[in-house]
Amino acid sequence: MSRFIDSKVWCPLCNKNVQLLRVAHAAKLVDVHPRTIYRYIDEGLVYARRVAGKTYRVCGECLYRQRSDA
Ligand SMILES: [Zn+2]
Repeated sequence: MSRFIDSKVWCPLCNKNVQLLRVAHAAKLVDVHPRTIYRYIDEGLVYARRVAGKTYRVCGECLYRQRSDA
């Protein structure tokens, strides 16, 4: 059961449990450059978690919100 729980994390920006996406994958989904996503992370606009030291997983719902605000 814990395996399923692990796949979702609490996003404080969305106020709910979300699935985190790899940056490359998320970039394709919302059709932006991965660099743009790193900028969102830097600016605290999307929730991200660092995994394995230097890669990130990002909240897709936060990203979609950025897109609709743009
Ligand atoms: Zn979020």
